[in-house]
Amino acid sequence: AKRGGRGTYRFFDWSMNQAATRILKIQQGLHEATTHGWFKLHYQPKFSADGRRLQGAEALLRYTHPELGVISPQEFIGIAERSGLIVQIGEWVVREACRQLRSWQLQNIGPLKLAINLSPRQLIQPDLLQGVLAIVKQEAVEPAWLMFEITETVAMQDAAHTVETIHAFQQAGFDVAIDDFGTGYSSLAYLQRFRVRQLKIDGFFTQGLDAAGEEGEAIVSAIIALAHSLGMDVVAEGVETATQLEKLKSLQCDQIQGFLLGRPMPAEAFAEKIEGWLAV
Ligand code: C2E
Ligand code: CA
Ligand code: CA
Ligand code: CA
Repeated sequence: AKRGGRGTYRFFDWSMNQAATRILKIQQGLHEATTHGWFKLHYQPKFSADGRRLQGAEALLRYTHPELGVISPQEFIGIAERSGLIVQIGEWVVREACRQLRSWQLQNIGPLKLAINLSPRQLIQPDLLQGVLAIVKQEAVEPAWLMFEITETVAMQDAAHTVETIHAFQQAGFDVAIDDFGTGYSSLAYLQRFRVRQLKIDGFFTQGLDAAGEEGEAIVSAIIALAHSLGMDVVAEGVETATQLEKLKSLQCDQIQGFLLGRPMPAEAFAEKIEGWLAV
């Protein structure tokens, strides 16, 4: 197996080295990102299924590295997760989201339900809820203004623990959503016990609505019926076309999120648009 020419080896070593160096740089930057202002939150609107009424927003983290430029969450969230840095970063996200909500409230913008993503590593912190409550109190916002999104795969990893965590958050007045639904394996028994406010259908299924056949619609329709029977609202993610929007509306989907109606955007841009959205 070691027959490759020297050039092959060199290239292999060199590219491995490149990748490792990039990961290291990203990780080092993550340590300093909060102090240097390299993080920013963007906000993506969630609308009613007719596409008109604003129902809330999701906070999405953005990271600009001083040397490497903009790094996608796809790349840096994993690195933050594996290094454990996500715990501190997650705290920064909660605080920043609360400050933004407070600032909007003072400007008479809203009230707005803001969703924050929680990663696996955060979810296993025994003092997660305490930490969140402390921040909420310090920043003078109400738990009812916040929602926490937990991905289906993570929720199911330790479903019994997830049930407890969800209930504790709900007891404290927060809403909870199951994110990326349909991409993992859900036990129906646990889905029932989660009793969350929202089920977010992964964009993969939304995109399936553009296809000519009826399979795509059948799946989305089944997920919506299941969620409704369990008392959950359904949010379709990744809505990009008018066809998807029409079908989701006719399938009784509750909310939609996607580039068609609004991309994630900085707080200032969001605030400019929000008056128009709320006025409808
Ligand atoms: P997610 O929670 O599923 O977020 C939705 C992703 O889909 C976002 O990508 C959003 O920009 C993108 N999106 C929204 N509408 C559309 C659309 O119409 N079409 C397409 N193709 N994409 C759309 P983003 O911002 O790159 O974030 C990727 C993932 O990174 C998120 O997936 C979430 O899992 C994670 N993430 C982002 N911010 C945070 C954070 O603050 N904390 C944690 N733990 N994870 C985060
Ligand atoms: Ca999410
Ligand atoms: Ca999602
Ligand atoms: Ca996702």
